[in-house]
Amino acid sequence: MSRRIELFLAACLYYSGLIAVARWWTQRSRQHLVILCYHNADGRNLRQHLRYLRRHYRILHLEEALEGFYAPSTRKKQKRGRTPLVLTFDDGYQDNYTYAFALARELRVPFTIFLVPGYIESGHCFWWQEDKRLLSYAQVDEVTVEGHTYCLDKVDESKALAQVIDTRVRYATSVVEREKFLAGMRKVLIETAPVFAEEKTTLPLTWAQVQTMKESGWVSFGAHTMHHPILACLTAATEVQYEVSQCRTVLERHLNYPVRTFAYPIGQLEDIGDHGLHAVQKANYSWALTTIGGFNTLQTNPYLLRRIVVDVDQHWLQVAAKASGIWGALSHLYWKYGSYHASIFASASVSFGNFANRFFFKFSRNIQVISASFQEAHSRINAKPCSGSATVTTLTV
Ligand SMILES: [Zn+2]
Repeated sequence: MSRRIELFLAACLYYSGLIAVARWWTQRSRQHLVILCYHNADGRNLRQHLRYLRRHYRILHLEEALEGFYAPSTRKKQKRGRTPLVLTFDDGYQDNYTYAFALARELRVPFTIFLVPGYIESGHCFWWQEDKRLLSYAQVDEVTVEGHTYCLDKVDESKALAQVIDTRVRYATSVVEREKFLAGMRKVLIETAPVFAEEKTTLPLTWAQVQTMKESGWVSFGAHTMHHPILACLTAATEVQYEVSQCRTVLERHLNYPVRTFAYPIGQLEDIGDHGLHAVQKANYSWALTTIGGFNTLQTNPYLLRRIVVDVDQHWLQVAAKASGIWGALSHLYWKYGSYHASIFASASVSFGNFANRFFFKFSRNIQVISASFQEAHSRINAKPCSGSATVTTLTV
């Protein structure tokens, strides 16, 4: 589904009142915990997301929310109020500090970051960025990988090589195998590996930044393995256990408090595997989070907690629809009843969307013209300059 159609549907759900009804129903039951999953924070929409969410939900630190949710005595004492919601950021990008942390302090909103200590120590870019990075800065025109020669001037061959790199690092059976492959690719593609300014927001956090955020009280931390392998791909159970347990040990040494929460890399069931689930329990974490979508109820396994994945590029209306649960329910129907009916609905939505775009464009222009005329008249009557700026009609949250 295209972004424009998604936004249009989210606006329909919001302005029809359906999102408010869904929110009311969730709030009334007092049986749900909503956990959102972000990655990067650098985007113009995060401020609008946070302003909407803090108005309609009770935003808590992750551990505080989980303790309250799973303790029946605490929950009974709670007055009926807004649904608890937790903001989490996976991986620990630089922009979590430069952007999300600054917003958290300004808007007084807590959040939790899941850290990967191996990357904090090395300062290297994450493995899922390597294919794009290596090919963007390649210093050769041609390269042979696994017996196949790729001409990097040709777009399709360059894309094919990017796919090979991503597949090799994504499905590596050990961290050593992954790093050995990447070192080899760096050697043949770029002799030196400079860090460019535009890459800095996607690099890992530093320990100093982690410390500053911890001391503020607005940011808490959880574990996300030592080197972010897909746990189900690792062949040795001992390596799975090391990735999970060592991460906790290193984080506790730096943070000086018990780390009780863990987020699985990638986070779908097929990425976790039996060894991953077992390792998290053996390492004595209290809770583990997936990226399986949906709300958490009292019946949810505390080692397979659900999260709703959102993105800073999405409009706040889309986040409102997702956090209310209504988006998940509609997505379920979309996949259940197939794409045929959905495509008819999508075509109708696009036509209506185009009509609505034209209507609102004219409406907005008329409002601005009327507003400008009104200001001009107002300034003449008062015989002094108007102190306000031109009125612009915007959606407010
Ligand atoms: Zn991750």
